[in-house]
Amino acid sequence: MEQQLQAGLAALGLPTEGVPSLLRYGHLLMETNKVMNLTAITDPADIAALHFLDSAALLTLEDFRDKTVVDVGTGAGFPGLPLKILEPTIHLTLLDSLGKRVQFLERVCQELGLADVACIHGRAEEFAAAHRESFDLAVSRAVAALPVLCELCLPLVRPGGKFLAMKSVDSDQELESARHAIEILGGAVSGVRDYAIPGTEVRHRLILVKKVKKTPEKYPRMFAKIKKNPL
Ligand code: SAM
Repeated sequence: MEQQLQAGLAALGLPTEGVPSLLRYGHLLMETNKVMNLTAITDPADIAALHFLDSAALLTLEDFRDKTVVDVGTGAGFPGLPLKILEPTIHLTLLDSLGKRVQFLERVCQELGLADVACIHGRAEEFAAAHRESFDLAVSRAVAALPVLCELCLPLVRPGGKFLAMKSVDSDQELESARHAIEILGGAVSGVRDYAIPGTEVRHRLILVKKVKKTPEKYPRMFAKIKKNPL
C-alpha cells in the first residue's frame, strides 16, 4: 500500500508527507472492519485507490486550504479524513447518522493526532438547524441521489461557498434531475470535472455547485419529506 500511495499522490502532484498517517488509518480501517461494518472495500490495494486516492484527487480540483469543510455522510471518513491528512489546514467536520462509525472516526483522529476535526453523530437535515450556511465547502460521496443530496448539503454552505458532490462519470441524467433542486436551494453548477484515480482505469466525477444565494428557510425539510418528494 505504501508504494501505491507514494506513486499515486505523486501522480496527482500532491505532497507525500501524509503517507504514514494514511497507512495507519488504513490499518485501523481494516482491523475495525473485521468487527464492525465500515466498508465493503477490504483489499489493501483497493482501499488505497478507491478510498484514499479517490478522496485525495479532490485536492487537485478545488482549493481546500484553511477552509471550513463538512463531509456529509462521511461513513468511515471518506473523503473528509484523507483530505485533512493531506491538507492539514482544513477545519473539518465529519457528519454521519451512524454512531458506531462516528466512534471509529474519533478513534482515528485520536490515534493520528489530528487536531481541528469535529466528529458529529447526527443527520444532515437536523444538523442544518444550528449550522446553517456556516461552511466554506460541503463534500459528500455515496450518500444519496443528487436532488436529495443537494437538500442535505447546500443549506450548510455559506453564500460564496461550494458543495462538491463525488459521483460516477455516468451521472449526466442525475445532474439533469437535480437542476431544479440546485436552483431552488440557492446553488448554480460551476463545474463538472472528471478525474482518473492514479494506477487504475477508474474515472470518477466531481460536480461543483456554487452557493450563489441563501437557501430559503424552509429547507432542508424532514428526511421523510425530502425522500418522498425530492425537489
Ligand atoms: N461517504 C462515505 C464513503 O464514500 O465511503 C460513506 C458512504 S455510506 C454508503 C453512506 C453514509 O451516509 C452512511 O454512513 C450513512 O450513515 C450516512 N448517511 C445517510 N444519510 C445521512 C444523513 N441524512 N445525514 C448524515 N449521514 C447520513
